[in-house]
Amino acid sequence: MLIDNHNRKINYLRLAVTDRCNLRCNYCMPSEGIDFAKKDKLFTIAELTKVSRILVEQGIDKLRITGGEPFVRKDLMILLRGLSKMEGLNDVSITTNATLIGPHIDELKELGITNINVSLDAIEKTTFERITRRNQYDTVYDNLTRLIAGGFNVRINFIVLENQNIQDIHPILDAMKNYDVSVRFLEEMPFNGGSKKFSAIKWDYKRILGHITSKYPDIEEISSPKTSTSINYKIKGHVGTFGLIPSFSRTFCGSCNRLRITATGDVITCLYARPCTNLRDILRGENSEERIKQQIIKAVGSRAATGFEAQAKYERVFDSSMTSIGG
Ligand code: SAM
Repeated sequence: MLIDNHNRKINYLRLAVTDRCNLRCNYCMPSEGIDFAKKDKLFTIAELTKVSRILVEQGIDKLRITGGEPFVRKDLMILLRGLSKMEGLNDVSITTNATLIGPHIDELKELGITNINVSLDAIEKTTFERITRRNQYDTVYDNLTRLIAGGFNVRINFIVLENQNIQDIHPILDAMKNYDVSVRFLEEMPFNGGSKKFSAIKWDYKRILGHITSKYPDIEEISSPKTSTSINYKIKGHVGTFGLIPSFSRTFCGSCNRLRITATGDVITCLYARPCTNLRDILRGENSEERIKQQIIKAVGSRAATGFEAQAKYERVFDSSMTSIGG
């Protein structure tokens, strides 16, 4: 079992399979000139499988595949087939922009990979296309509908962006009213590849909640797992729920159970920290599982207590883009 230096059990791995994405969300990265990793610097599928297995042996039982956009990797399903059978791994989930998932929906269901987070920052097509800088709205909406109809456990991630999508907050709740879906509203963070710097946000989770209750006063807070980053609510008369994720306010660090590994092998123990070791280099160098395990134990044993502590410690943390961290 992995226990960090603040006595938090670490059992959740967010594993990025690529840093490439087919969208260009303006709050995540600049439109051009992104420094994507060279292909040979990315983990291969065999390496991703091996790293996952080692981490599962150490106590990870929940693994989320992220990116970049995971489905831009043509070999992604090979990894997912292996993970879905991995002993000790109870939950394999995916975070996706839902542009390329369509051909894989049936197989995902067969593999039992049913927890899918879909990023959707607008319900109105022009707003979506302005934010993502790509014309993929119809495909995303179609795939989202297929996932919901197919019985997947779908959560929508909606990043609340000042001057961009506030007008879509009420409509997305209206649109999802009759579906068993959780719409989670996240605070914007400055991980955008340096394209926009800020040290405060106007739309924090309290203001988002105030905005939601201005239209839906009849809400009830519902219980959430202890390690959940989202504060969840039900609106009277709605089938699904909504959640608020204080990703910039960082109210949830005390119960954080996460570890991140990027597609190039960097281990990140807090979203607001810099990488502390690189597993790809170990795999391609001495190739010692024991050394990887030691490095993980070392990383977990020196985590910042909170995202604020990490931010204060590491300079230039906001130069990076969420597309390389994995969200
Ligand atoms: N491509 C996949 C997707 O769209 O969900 C997975 C990777 S994406 C980097 C993971 C999540 O990070 C998405 O929900 C995205 O909206 C979120 N994200 C990206 N940049 C962000 C930022 N600056 N602040 C908050 N969330 C961000």
